[in-house]
Amino acid sequence: MTTHNSVYVGLGSNLDNPIDQVKQALLALNTIPTTVLLKHSALYRSKPLGPKNQPDYINALAVLTTELAPLTLLNELQAIENKQGRVRTAQRWGPRTLDLDMLLYGNKQLHTPQLTLPHPGLYDRAFVLYPLYECAPDLVLPNGLKAYDLIQRCSVMESVELLIVVF
Ligand code: AMP
Repeated sequence: MTTHNSVYVGLGSNLDNPIDQVKQALLALNTIPTTVLLKHSALYRSKPLGPKNQPDYINALAVLTTELAPLTLLNELQAIENKQGRVRTAQRWGPRTLDLDMLLYGNKQLHTPQLTLPHPGLYDRAFVLYPLYECAPDLVLPNGLKAYDLIQRCSVMESVELLIVVF
């Protein structure tokens, strides 16, 4: 029997027309072998983490089901990042055309050099939690809390705006 695992992927872009980058990436996610895009959030605008001398980010969240193993799926996500012109630099949290983070892969816990699950930023990043709340308000995360509970703990300084984009 094949196993279908629910995977939550965070998308972010702040270079080269970020709205288009995120829309294109959502289409690309649906072309990964044995993987289906079940739903995605609206688009959100957020302030950058780390260096402030870079444009705001456009973020979204996608819910997938896949038969791929976590590392195989990570390779597919990185191939999409590369195809959309992602240049890896030494600067942490620097600007990027596309960032795809595997936030959750079922209830798998993993700590390897290439992949940490759940993603370490899952519980405290407002730009992840708002779209997660939109897509999965009842989902109980591995720490026992829901996105809504975690949003209450986010700093009010961490501004996230919902964008009205028709697509
Ligand atoms: P970033 O610069 O945020 O895109 O980080 C990319 C690096 O994080 C890649 O080399 C991945 O191997 C690693 N990584 C570890 N855990 C994850 C995860 N859950 N999702 C995506 N990348 C991850």
